[in-house]
Amino acid sequence: MTTRTILISGASIAGPALAYWLHRYGFQPTIVERAPALRDGGYAVDFRGQAHLTVLRRMGILPAVERARTGTGSTWYVNSAGKPQAELPADLFAGDVEILRGDLSRILYDATKQNTEYVFGDSITSLTEDADGVHVTFERSAPRRFDLLVGADGLHSNTRRLAFGPEDRYVRHLGVYCAIFTTANHLGLDHTGHAYRTGGKLVAMYSARGNTEARATFYFGSPLLDLDRRDAARQQDILAEQFTGNGWESDRLLGEMWHAPDFYFDSVGQVAMDSWTRGRVALLGDAAYCPSSLSGMGTGLAVVGAYVLAGELAAAGGDHRATFARYEEEMREYAAGCRKMGDGVAKLMIPQSRFVAGFLNRYYRLLPYLPGKNLAANMARRTAENITLRDYRQLTGR
Ligand SMILES: Cc1cc2nc3c(=O)[nH]c(=O)nc-3n(C[C@H](O)[C@H](O)[C@H](O)COP(=O)(O)OP(=O)(O)OC[C@H]3O[C@@H](n4cnc5c(N)ncnc54)[C@H](O)[C@@H]3O)c2cc1C
Repeated sequence: MTTRTILISGASIAGPALAYWLHRYGFQPTIVERAPALRDGGYAVDFRGQAHLTVLRRMGILPAVERARTGTGSTWYVNSAGKPQAELPADLFAGDVEILRGDLSRILYDATKQNTEYVFGDSITSLTEDADGVHVTFERSAPRRFDLLVGADGLHSNTRRLAFGPEDRYVRHLGVYCAIFTTANHLGLDHTGHAYRTGGKLVAMYSARGNTEARATFYFGSPLLDLDRRDAARQQDILAEQFTGNGWESDRLLGEMWHAPDFYFDSVGQVAMDSWTRGRVALLGDAAYCPSSLSGMGTGLAVVGAYVLAGELAAAGGDHRATFARYEEEMREYAAGCRKMGDGVAKLMIPQSRFVAGFLNRYYRLLPYLPGKNLAANMARRTAENITLRDYRQLTGR
């Protein structure tokens, strides 16, 4: 085998999923994560269709994921008085299994921690490649050499910047910003979400952790802002400017925002790259092919990508050149389909014009009575299933 040691940057979903498979095939994974510890809680993500579920089943974690599912049912569009107007079926928003991102990350961490070296609170600062491997320097740890490096460090990937160039070459802003934070479930929502939409703005709340708390989410249309991603105070000011007096629960939720323990704010973007691999470096998950946080596809895509990348490495006997070519071939069309989905959802969920928002609100009210009522959910399912998974498991000898 030409490859043994693999450094993965990022310990959220794609990174630990890759480490799981790498260990099963006899490779030695190390994960470096910028956060000081595993990030718990967070927003809900989902899996839908056979490809996603098959990978979770083959990893042996499907039962744990199902036990931790949110159980969220339909989401409702409400009017300014909070009266439900139109139902969006669970299938559309929550897929087959919905789980908090942090809970999923914890399950993947537990499944890998015995056999993966985790380094928290650190980040790669430079990489130099030669014929034998990648020489990596870190913010805190001593420099090391690995056979391969995989960037699983998300939409704003550090690895992508270091190996492929600046973010603006690859990340396309979808014209929308998103904020999310934990709040009290003061509406008493029972495994459901309520969303209030006006032109270019959407504010929503959904229950979490068995209704004991809720998540407030805000979306607003905007060109890319010149912002420091770590400047939460400035981001909160912007959100307050956008939503004060917006109606429904906006003002109350903004009031809670100032002391939220986990305020998250980011632009909604997609990643499009001609190639996800260069030399001994590969990108995975959102770092490579983020379809946008609105697509409902990113998490499934990340675990499928990890499954394919590790499987192809085992099938190629550790030859990274053959592996990377096969990885691109297997994943390219699948990832492109998910990206297309993300594009469509952004336009439909947060239409910029008040007229279109009003039209869509009325349309959703009629949707249950129309023949195409399951169109969007079926389209999402078809997109999520548009890959034939090879079965690499015999390569493990188990
Ligand atoms: C608000 C919101 C809602 C979403 N809803 C859904 C949904 O409903 N369904 C769905 O499927 N997906 C959803 N997603 C998308 C989903 O979260 C991602 O697609 C998925 O988490 C991708 O996993 P990843 O591991 O590739 O990247 P990420 O989850 O982004 O993880 C990247 C990791 O890399 C770490 N990192 C970053 N920089 C560095 C560095 N320099 N060094 C080391 N580590 C670093 C980060 O701390 C993080 O742990 C949503 C996303 C957001 C933001």
